[in-house]
Amino acid sequence: MTASLATVSYIGATILFILSLGGLSNPETSRRGNLYGIVGMAIAVIATILGRRVAGGGEIALVTGSGYAWIIGAMAIGGTIGLIAARVVKMTQMPELVAIMHSLVGLAACAIGYASYIDTSTVFATPADETIHLIEIYVGVLIGAVTFSGSVIAFGKLSGKIGGKPVLLPARHWINLVGLLVVIWFGGAFIHAENASVGMTPLIVMTVIALLFGVHMVMAIGGADMPVVVSMLNSYSGWAAAATGFMLSNDLLIVTGALVGSSGAILSYIMCRAMNRNFISVIAGGFGTGGGAPAAKAGEQPAGEVVAVSAQETAELLKESKNVIIVPGYGMAVAQAQHVVNEITQHLREKGVNVRFGIHPVAGRMPGHMNVLLAEAKVPYDIVMEMDEINEDFPDTDVAMVIGANDIVNPAAQEDPTSPIAGMPVLEVWKAKTSIVMKRSMASGYAGVDNPLFYKENNRMLFGDAKKMLDEVLVALMA
Ligand code: NDP
Repeated sequence: MTASLATVSYIGATILFILSLGGLSNPETSRRGNLYGIVGMAIAVIATILGRRVAGGGEIALVTGSGYAWIIGAMAIGGTIGLIAARVVKMTQMPELVAIMHSLVGLAACAIGYASYIDTSTVFATPADETIHLIEIYVGVLIGAVTFSGSVIAFGKLSGKIGGKPVLLPARHWINLVGLLVVIWFGGAFIHAENASVGMTPLIVMTVIALLFGVHMVMAIGGADMPVVVSMLNSYSGWAAAATGFMLSNDLLIVTGALVGSSGAILSYIMCRAMNRNFISVIAGGFGTGGGAPAAKAGEQPAGEVVAVSAQETAELLKESKNVIIVPGYGMAVAQAQHVVNEITQHLREKGVNVRFGIHPVAGRMPGHMNVLLAEAKVPYDIVMEMDEINEDFPDTDVAMVIGANDIVNPAAQEDPTSPIAGMPVLEVWKAKTSIVMKRSMASGYAGVDNPLFYKENNRMLFGDAKKMLDEVLVALMA
């Protein structure tokens, strides 16, 4: 492939990636956005493996026949793993999958950094060019290692393999600061090293510190702040890809990495704002479940009286309502109850009830989790409202139906300044005439905090699996 054709292909792929991001910002255009992304990636991969850097084209021929066999073999293995993961992984496991995918981007940046350093075949025009290349390697490996170990820990936390409680080492900020200074000092030693074998020691020391920093950073973040970490690691993985692009002198990788990096950074900012958190405090750790009141454990005695209702009684309450707001949470995803939620919504709307959905920005386990589920079940987009759009309407609502949500409707965030989630904006369902919470037990949510909503006078609990209970509610509504 000629250089100009490769450039045109890269520009085309870049435009498709930008269109893809634009499409993904709205549920109605998200399918098209995905398609643009797939086509863009296919063009990018083909242009790269047929391009000058890989196939040659007069100047260098890095890969010949047997080399292509390796590339095709690797693509077949990677593609098969991706295909199986996409089919097998459940919607509720998506956040963990995303976290582990981010770790692979970090690992790739590290591997490419080391490979570029060991490879001495590149000839530099000036000493300054060589220094820039060394800085690219050092920074690329640094970002890659933090992304890799941080994402592995995030995977552990999101899948419940590692506890959600923040691990706060004494003097942790000092440990981080000393680590940073050592990394900077070794950076100088790396750049001024006489040869690759001398420079390898500072590079390895920095990699170990960066790996430990990634572990330390994510371990110190409490359960309720995990959404920010997920989007932040998303951003890091973008910067790691951009760093890889610099090391390989691949413009497309630089642009794509920068797109992912900056959109992840914007998402982190939006998440912080949604949770009323300061980004620096979240990264420094110690928010989340660490400093507040002890969390209620599953099966502990409730801190008050709760009133349980049956599916039949829930249906009666819904039938008598004019305005209903449904608040879905992680439990709806676990129970896969979105389809029956849609059926109930349709039925009530046919009977003239005004049904709307209130979506908290951190509901579920990944940004946009609830929107994806409701779109899958074909709930009309125009009745799915953001928290800020609907929060003021609860006082005029007859029934607020909470389906498998907990932290995002916890009044302690407003009422108890000692609560670990104090200050986080929540959906004020208790202001409705009646709130009904559907969950299986009195267990706490992801942040591990007891929920005073359950004990409020106008609250009712519908205990059981969300799908099973909603099926029963639907039958009672139809009767
Ligand atoms: P929560 O985790 O607070 O609560 C979910 C509730 O669903 C649980 O209390 C559970 O109670 C119930 N549940 C589980 N399975 C079922 C089932 N089959 N049927 C009915 N109920 C069920 O979820 P929310 O959506 O309210 O809040 C999200 C939390 O996750 C926040 O703390 C947020 O910070 C955090 N988070 C969000 C991320 C994001 O990007 N959105 C990423 C990482 C963390 P029971 O066991 O009694 O049934």
